Amino acid sequence: MKIMKFGGTSVGRPERMHHIVSLVSKATEPTIVVLSALSGTTNALVEIGSNIAKGDRSAAKETIDKLEGHYQSFIRDLVKEEAAYQKAKAILAEHFEFLHIILRISFSEALSKDILAQGELLSTKLFCVYLEEQGIPHALLPALEFMTIDTYDEPQIGSIKVRLSQLLDQHQDKKLFVTQGYICRNARGEVDNLKRGGSDYSASLISAAINASVCEIWTDIDGMHNNDPRVVKKTVPVEQLSFEEAAELAYFGAKILHPASIWPAQQYNIPVRLLNTMQPEAKGTLIAREAKGVGVKAVAAKDNITAIRIKSSRMLLAYGFLRKIFEVFEKYRTPIDMITTSEVAVSLTIDNPAFLKDIIKELEPFGTVEVDEAQSIISVVGNEISQTADIVKRLFGSLVNIPIRMVSYGGSPHNISLLVPAASKDQILQQLNKGMFGLE
Ligand code: ASP
Ligand code: MG
Repeated sequence: MKIMKFGGTSVGRPERMHHIVSLVSKATEPTIVVLSALSGTTNALVEIGSNIAKGDRSAAKETIDKLEGHYQSFIRDLVKEEAAYQKAKAILAEHFEFLHIILRISFSEALSKDILAQGELLSTKLFCVYLEEQGIPHALLPALEFMTIDTYDEPQIGSIKVRLSQLLDQHQDKKLFVTQGYICRNARGEVDNLKRGGSDYSASLISAAINASVCEIWTDIDGMHNNDPRVVKKTVPVEQLSFEEAAELAYFGAKILHPASIWPAQQYNIPVRLLNTMQPEAKGTLIAREAKGVGVKAVAAKDNITAIRIKSSRMLLAYGFLRKIFEVFEKYRTPIDMITTSEVAVSLTIDNPAFLKDIIKELEPFGTVEVDEAQSIISVVGNEISQTADIVKRLFGSLVNIPIRMVSYGGSPHNISLLVPAASKDQILQQLNKGMFGLE
């Protein structure tokens, strides 16, 4: 079996949905199609939820009505036959009635998750109406019946496996299955989700659970590129990446793939292919165990980084100092990304400043604490790059005119990371494009 996951823009317009049905029908093996919500829907649902939370019900109602209008016109072009149109209309009626009811009841965290789930429920059900109109046999596998997370919001791969195979067993006559990305049930049995962009994660978890031959992630760009196309003029797709390289890139800013989606595929050794719905013949990027080729493959940048430096002469020759510092971050459940140390100071970065004030307060007894906000991490990724001759010379040679706040080299053999002021990020990515890849 294989997995084909389509993102919001791939299902965002009726003709796009028609197009992906033609891609899906070309599959030569049984396929599970994982869908996101139509583009813009989850953002609208977030807005509805936050307006209800604020008590601004008229703003929420306005967004619901606008969204409903959008879907009404969507289904007019999605299907041709009256019977299919009536089915699609009934689906909209059901889900929008739910949203209108929510306007009248008191708000809770659990309710906001129910609101967020409507996007994927709608996209998959409408997709199935179109499949039915086209006479394509299929079965809808409700994600809420098999995708579960535990009390730490971690997916329960074991039970996902069991429940999903039970569901598949009920449809042994079918070759095409459709399910929702993103949504799941939590440990309390409530509707929950795998966080924004989580459909990739769903696809990867499902691939792992059924030991798929491949997990195809279809978007509107032909794979992972060597640099950020929004910042530099010329970028090229990277043909093959190892799971480690892909994880570094996904975390450090390559928006194409949700960072958490690497581990299930990696752990169960399922190749992941990033493909372009608008150019289905293009090779895209293959992510697999083998890295293929040595050297620099891509650079990526992550914004909104906060750097914290703790200086203390007490650190000199002392043991246990780092543990005490790390415990502060652990207490506030704040992950540390980069870290560098000298004999009398340690610098580290975080990307979630929610508890910054508390963290600083608790660090102060250890020494002088300095904070730099608005930083970016530039990450240079490739197979065994730290073994690549003259890499350091080429890297720093490309950046002679730029001040660098931190350097992390050797943590992984596949990554060199630099911390720089966010204001110099674009210039750095441009200079690296030339210096590392010979692209202007
Ligand atoms: N619809 C969800 C979102 O917009 C999940 C996804 O698209 O991956 O975040
Ligand atoms: Mg996405």
